[in-house]
Amino acid sequence: MKAIVLFGSPGSGKGTQARMLTQCLKVPHVSTGDMLRDRIRHGVELGSCVAAKMHSGVLVADRLVNLLVEERLAQPDGANGFVLDGYPRTLAQAEHLIEWLDGRGIREVVIHLAVDYNIIISRLTGRRECPQCGTLYNIAYHPPKVDELCDLDGTKLAVRDDDREPVIRERLDAYERQTRPVLDYYRSAGRRVLNVDASSDPPDVVFEKICLAMELDDCSKNGR
Ligand code: ADP
Repeated sequence: MKAIVLFGSPGSGKGTQARMLTQCLKVPHVSTGDMLRDRIRHGVELGSCVAAKMHSGVLVADRLVNLLVEERLAQPDGANGFVLDGYPRTLAQAEHLIEWLDGRGIREVVIHLAVDYNIIISRLTGRRECPQCGTLYNIAYHPPKVDELCDLDGTKLAVRDDDREPVIRERLDAYERQTRPVLDYYRSAGRRVLNVDASSDPPDVVFEKICLAMELDDCSKNGR
């Protein structure tokens, strides 16, 4: 059972690494951001404040995300493991998850993608998305072949609503205030936290570092 919690600031590359890990391990990618955006797209959150919160970069209520994650992890495709991306983001969510996992005898591994603050800012402000197929680009690190157009379908690229400057600031603030303490909580509770420096390497190198860190962790666990 591979229960992986990918932890890191917005813009640390969690989404990209989560996709690489899930392909490699053949386990589902559980992203609370994607789940919430899906609900908005399908009109499930009409009349609720979820969309407004996401657009302004503040966190959605713990109760809702805890429930969504619990329901998702209970699906049969998660029997061999899963990669959590963007959850837990508050102490209440971390406590909820730990209780859920402990109740099933599952021990998670937390992978912390550590990225320099200035790099985070340039990644987030440069992010572009194809509104048609969802492909992600970055004007600084991974630009499209033709300026502002998707390589795959030629659609004009867009800036995600929550990638606008004031919202970026709010998201980073929320991370510092509410999410970073979760890491200390995991450490002080004696859970497995692996630090991976993800500041300057391309995604495939960061992925190799993650795999290596997990292998070393498995060896030390088995050697204990
Ligand atoms: P990023 O990690 O780049 O901020 P996400 O797609 O993970 O992007 O999250 C987008 C938004 O969705 C967050 O700013 C927040 O409003 C909401 N959200 C996602 N996950 C959670 C969570 N675990 N708890 C509360 N809100 C969440």
